[in-house]
Amino acid sequence: MKVEDLIIIGSGPAGYTAAIYASRANLAPLMVEGFQSGGLLMLTSDVENYPGFPEGIMGPDLMAAFRKQAERFGTRYIQKDVTRVDFSSYPLKVFIDKEELQAKTVILSTGASTKWLDLESERRLLGKGVSSCATCDGAFFKGAKLIIVGGGDSAMEEATFLTKFASFVTVVHRRDSLRASKIMVERATKNPKISFIWDSEVAEILGDNTVTGVKLRNLKTKAEQTVACEGVFVAIGHEPNTGFLKGQVPLDEKGYIVLPKRPTTATEVKGVFAAGDVQDVIYRQAITAAASGCQAAIDAERFLETLH
Ligand code: NAP
Repeated sequence: MKVEDLIIIGSGPAGYTAAIYASRANLAPLMVEGFQSGGLLMLTSDVENYPGFPEGIMGPDLMAAFRKQAERFGTRYIQKDVTRVDFSSYPLKVFIDKEELQAKTVILSTGASTKWLDLESERRLLGKGVSSCATCDGAFFKGAKLIIVGGGDSAMEEATFLTKFASFVTVVHRRDSLRASKIMVERATKNPKISFIWDSEVAEILGDNTVTGVKLRNLKTKAEQTVACEGVFVAIGHEPNTGFLKGQVPLDEKGYIVLPKRPTTATEVKGVFAAGDVQDVIYRQAITAAASGCQAAIDAERFLETLH
């Protein structure tokens, strides 16, 4: 069986950047892109903060450009999902259903998935007032009234950030105390443009083509109320896409890949590296994911040199 020099699993900014660097280093990487290639950027519209695009660029267009650039230097693609890996022996094994691939190095860049409220109205109005990324979409809501859902650091940070643009931000939280750290809570509660609605869940997001409000349900009294708003930011956390890695590479309590030798991207497993949101709970930006993809490719290349 052919043993690949490098298999890259996952095709967001981290994976494609790793592919660009690795293919330019003549490693001819094989990328298993997944059925839904391109990662979280495929869900966003205008990306205005990726350097090099002063007019902004659509998320899917940016990912298509990344992909083309990696292909130009010899990256090969498989548009399927990896179903399991076996890192217990060397070479490393990657499975797509019953098909087995083998590699000397693997870069894990499967990203993270936004947690959503799981409402039909939320899916319908995604990108039409519903967002999960204040950094990406906040600037589209100048002067607007906004709702943020969540009680963690992300919700506090996004609420505070959004007051730069919005006329008013209301945080809706399902309990009566926040999970967020003290400093983030203080910053949000002191902000005159932020208020809180406690013990409440979003029962429905209202609007036909754009968001016009939310229907909230108090979880203690069951009372419902409608609050008018032009945007809803869901900030209830992310889940790293690491289900298929359990027992193969150390994960932290939230499922993120542990990198014990930072700043390198090496995992605990020989020849396995990780890049992008799958190992990043803090920054989660396209540019930081891309940067770590570059690091992972360089780390993999150096590891391969040690095998000769
Ligand atoms: P998180 O800490 O898991 O908080 C998620 C929040 O959403 C919780 O308040 C939770 O409510 C709520 N929630 C979860 N599922 C929900 C649902 N289905 N419906 C309604 N509410 C729901 O996630 P995070 O805020 O994204 O933070 C993740 C990690 O990144 C944390 O370790 C955090 O400290 C870190 N972080 C740090 C910074 C920073 O330091 N600058 C910024 C952002 C994130 P409950 O409280 O009731 O569980």
